[in-house]
Amino acid sequence: MALPSETVYGLGANAEEPAAVSRIFEVTGRPPSHPPIVHIGGTEHLDDWVQDVPGTARLLAEHFWPGPLTLVLRRVLAFPLEATGGLETVAVRVPDHRVALALLSAFGGGVTASSANRFGSLSPTTADHVRAELGDGVDFVLDGGSCEVGVESTIVAATGDTPTILRPGGVTREDLETVLGCPLAVPSTSRVRVPGRHPSHYAPHARVVLVEPEKVVAEAERAQERGHQVGVFLPPSFTGAPVKAHAVVTVPGSVAAYARGLYGLLRELDLRGCDLIVASLPVEEGLALAIANRLRRAAGPRPCE
Ligand code: AMP
Ligand code: MG
Repeated sequence: MALPSETVYGLGANAEEPAAVSRIFEVTGRPPSHPPIVHIGGTEHLDDWVQDVPGTARLLAEHFWPGPLTLVLRRVLAFPLEATGGLETVAVRVPDHRVALALLSAFGGGVTASSANRFGSLSPTTADHVRAELGDGVDFVLDGGSCEVGVESTIVAATGDTPTILRPGGVTREDLETVLGCPLAVPSTSRVRVPGRHPSHYAPHARVVLVEPEKVVAEAERAQERGHQVGVFLPPSFTGAPVKAHAVVTVPGSVAAYARGLYGLLRELDLRGCDLIVASLPVEEGLALAIANRLRRAAGPRPCE
């Protein structure tokens, strides 16, 4: 079944039932190398799933759960291998959503849940998005309204004494560093237009081109003249600027609103028939680090390129 969370909608299954977990991979087309996250109802259940939990990981769990933080820890031996992609570790989090927590509490166990989208495409942030993404592939969608955070959880590898960020997300690097009292390593960031070594992910159907904010309008108009149906992510400082393009959305001025709307806006430009989206990266601090990461990945080379 699909379930809401504060980050994005998930496609969930009983974490202890290998056949159900396999269905997640089947329905989403996800490769085994991307295991889903095990969602638990509270920190008190952590030790049912993982072992050798370092003090730093407990500290992070205490501060940020329930919330958009996923901890990668050493799995307990009894954990079904299907749910971990054969890894010795497992990703765990407690979601901060009334409906998800009620479900987890009623169920009592862990729910393995991937984002409820076809692998590589946009994550759903409403129940309607899930239906549009997965159609009959999902038998039940629990509608908990629009996701409050709108981007996925921050994933932190926490097996050792020095945690590292594997994926920026809803909990900011700055907040993690404040709690830990030390700087954190983050994944390498490439500059705008550097040919992506990362294949596309979090991607709309339209191709995504990233340029400097002051070049968005000119780049969009040039592509439109070349015959593309161009969608524009207009930076907030250019609000109201006339743009000769197929569809224009103005990026919300607040970073939280931008994160909340990011996938919905990309989806909207797809629905309006755009084949190319011109956007720029926000300044990479706070929650904008996650937004920039998703836009970069969306702009990465497509499998057929
Ligand atoms: P999603 O459900 O789309 O948010 O994806 C979950 C992410 O968690 C994927 O990118 C996985 O690669 C990552 N993940 C899950 N388990 C692990 C693990 N044991 N180690 C590292 N990353 C993990
Ligand atoms: Mg995903």
